[in-house]
Amino acid sequence: MQRFMEDSGAYEHWLADNQHQYVINAERSLNPANLVLHRASCHTINGAPARGTTWVGSYVKLVGTRAELETEHPTARPCRLCL
Ligand SMILES: [Zn+2]
Repeated sequence: MQRFMEDSGAYEHWLADNQHQYVINAERSLNPANLVLHRASCHTINGAPARGTTWVGSYVKLVGTRAELETEHPTARPCRLCL
């Protein structure tokens, strides 16, 4: 599992190389009540961000296999669009 906490472009590179893996979109505090699990290919976390100009900032990205992420963050909710 990896965490992207800074907007360095590293998350976008990871996404391009790991479209078969999974991503949790989390508040910076990792508030367990607001974690959403996506496929890395989900259009809501790819392409140009809908709000603001960066993907990593007030929200951070936790990435890895679905099993890793669900074990580490059992409160994550599946995205209704991709899962
Ligand atoms: Zn999704």
